[in-house]
Amino acid sequence: MEAVIPFVGQVSAEDEKNWIDALSGALPNEQIIPFADLSESQRTSSTIAIVANPSPEDLAKLPNLVWIQSVWAGVERLLGELRDRPFEIVRMVDPEMSRTMAEAVLSWTLYLHRDMPAYAKQQRERKWVELPYTKPSQKTVGILGLGKLGKVAGRKLAEAGFNVMGWSRRPEDIQNINTKSGDDGLKQVISQSDIIVLLLPLSDTTRGLLNKNVFDQMRIGTSLINFSRGPIIDDDDLIEALDTGRIDHAVLDVFHQEPLPQDNPFWGHERVTVLPHISAPTDFDTATKIVSKNISRYRKIGILPMTVDKERGY
Ligand code: NAP
Repeated sequence: MEAVIPFVGQVSAEDEKNWIDALSGALPNEQIIPFADLSESQRTSSTIAIVANPSPEDLAKLPNLVWIQSVWAGVERLLGELRDRPFEIVRMVDPEMSRTMAEAVLSWTLYLHRDMPAYAKQQRERKWVELPYTKPSQKTVGILGLGKLGKVAGRKLAEAGFNVMGWSRRPEDIQNINTKSGDDGLKQVISQSDIIVLLLPLSDTTRGLLNKNVFDQMRIGTSLINFSRGPIIDDDDLIEALDTGRIDHAVLDVFHQEPLPQDNPFWGHERVTVLPHISAPTDFDTATKIVSKNISRYRKIGILPMTVDKERGY
């Protein structure tokens, strides 16, 4: 019986074909087959699957999976639906994604730092007013989440001259980043930052973490960038914090529901910039190389890439 690698995804037919063509080119000794085309014996013999937003019902029809490789970085949905399944979950960890995210963090930090929302408003009102300039060295950017993405973003902000603080679960020691952990560490970061960047995974401990209680500890006029996941923020509390001016401006790339519904108040809010989940898309070329390297290594020496910690939730 020949082992194949199923591609299990709820993506467009074009995306599925592109992934399968690219992965088949990078893994010439493997047969990568869309889930729908698998025979019964191929389903039974599969030990690895490559997934892109897979349906749990499809994965349940692959009884001998040892691990699944996701082509995306976030795993909250996979864990929500598949935590109790016996196979391991491997997410996309790609230095190119960290670079892209760091570029987005720097871009939108500069957007806030150089008062672009305020100047755009002034233009709409035909107002010619020079706002005071502050150097990056007089500003602090706090990054919540110092993982694969947060560390690289923090370094980039420090290179651009900002004071950088960062918060993680376990204590970290990172050059040029003033790192904090624990509840007290969170208080210090949020109360000392001018701009706060969210790069935490969505898990049981981070859902709703940014709520009124946390917003009230921020300085008046702090700005917020959310590039991780929408449900980490309590939206009603955020709107209240924006309306009172506690938060000056929020750049939001991720939302509770995506695409953002037409009647969502963020669309028309003067203090909000809405982005359509674009801060760090998976890079097709580098992701293909990473998936093929992970699978080749597993086939050769039987060692799995780093897997998601199902207890911890990321
Ligand atoms: P990661 O490597 O797993 O890092 C997660 C970081 O968050 C770690 O520093 C971790 O601390 C910290 N953390 C987790 N739970 C915490 C808690 N309860 N309290 C304090 N710190 C906590 O994740 P990543 O690769 O950097 O990605 C982060 C998230 O970005 C992903 O989960 C995904 O949702 C999102 N993302 C968004 C896009 C986009 O386009 N918008 C693209 C890619 C990823 P410890 O290391 O100490 O545990």
